[in-house]
Amino acid sequence: LSRRLAVLARLLWTFVRTRWGYRFRSRSALLAWQSRRLEQFMSKALMDIPYYRSYRGAAHDQLPIIDKPTMLRQFAAFNNRGIPLEAASEAAARAERNRDFMPTLPGGVTVGLSSGTSGERGVFLASDRERGLWAGAILARVLSPASLRQLLTPWARPLTVAFFLRANSRLYTTVDGRRLRFVFFDLLEPMADHVQALDALQPDLLIAPASVLGHLARCQEEGQMSLEPRQVVSVAEVLEPDDQLAAQRAWRVAVSQVYQCTEGFLAASCSSGRLHLNEEFLHVEPLWLDEAHTRFVPLLTDFTRHTQTFVRYRLDDVLRLAAEPCPCGRVTLPLEAVEGRQDDMLWLPGLDDGALRPVFADLLRRAMVMAQGSGTEGNAPPAPSLEDYRLEQCGLRWIVSLHFPEDTPTERMVSATMGVFRELRLVCQCAGLQVPDMEQAPWIPLAQGAKRRRIRCLQKPEPLVSKRSS
Ligand SMILES: [Zn+2]
Repeated sequence: LSRRLAVLARLLWTFVRTRWGYRFRSRSALLAWQSRRLEQFMSKALMDIPYYRSYRGAAHDQLPIIDKPTMLRQFAAFNNRGIPLEAASEAAARAERNRDFMPTLPGGVTVGLSSGTSGERGVFLASDRERGLWAGAILARVLSPASLRQLLTPWARPLTVAFFLRANSRLYTTVDGRRLRFVFFDLLEPMADHVQALDALQPDLLIAPASVLGHLARCQEEGQMSLEPRQVVSVAEVLEPDDQLAAQRAWRVAVSQVYQCTEGFLAASCSSGRLHLNEEFLHVEPLWLDEAHTRFVPLLTDFTRHTQTFVRYRLDDVLRLAAEPCPCGRVTLPLEAVEGRQDDMLWLPGLDDGALRPVFADLLRRAMVMAQGSGTEGNAPPAPSLEDYRLEQCGLRWIVSLHFPEDTPTERMVSATMGVFRELRLVCQCAGLQVPDMEQAPWIPLAQGAKRRRIRCLQKPEPLVSKRSS
């Protein structure tokens, strides 16, 4: 019980600070405050982490850049309890298998699994203090004033949150009390059951990966349920324009975003609808991907987490900076979008020098939207809107799979496919890149509960330069 109270106290404290505190006059005031926090963290908490003991007194930018394989390989060296990866994975897998998320490792450490795609899954450790901190920060950033009022009004019905996630973890069941109902929906269970349960629950907040929001919105439009959520929040996947529109149409609310992964709670939408990096908790160094300095891969240092540390940790994601400061007045960096993972970028040789250039995912997403909205030649009807699509690169071949609504006639599928090819070629031509061969592949549905990734580079092409010289 005392542990529960400690978590709750930390949650409330963080909530209050995050919601009403942290008022910085300017960006430089924020950065000065941040560098003091960073120094404190490096001289104290970081020195309990075996990996960093030999770096005592080193400046932040002298510390090595850490990526996920490095962290997984030396897992025990990156946490202050000496917990090896095997023990953490085993505890997490056991909890997930039993759908019982209460067990923890000795010392009150909670283990979570990231909702990652195929390949390596992230494992993370959190103490009671860190769970409280995480829950407080996320609630402070997500709850609208009306939702907060409902939460704090004793006679109102409890604030009900429906949360769709692939794997639950004790981290996510922290927030469950008399004024707050937090109901977890397991993405591995049949969606049809969830639709009924949701309709009965009538959540005030609906939180789910973007593709699930899109699916639920379509269920609502087909009359399978009638939710009236006050807030709709997209997590865990890139929020794509079609799902965003479907959700806004179905529920008449703007979709906000929470960008959160194993490595921490990275960003959330503000009142103006922009994602802001959580620079009150994290230090972010951009590794720029383009000359104009708009897209970057972040190196994170989380100076609030002590159990498992993430210091100059290289994320796999590509973030796009907003062009101008946010109208909301907050001085933390505003993002235009989380574009997806680094291998969501496709690559083509330039026509001028043959060197490989990236084709950023948002350009391709926009092309897909254009292909659906635009009419075909002459007076033909507009192209049918797609249920889903996939675009994969294998060298100089781009393989396109389109998922059409069931009743689409064949000739319209053919012309729509041609339309998609045309828009994609246009993107390459406009950027002065070699146009790849377009191929069509049959649509294969995604495994249930899997994270959706529509655009993916499976294999980069060879640069043309090396071909010429050989
Ligand atoms: Zn803002």
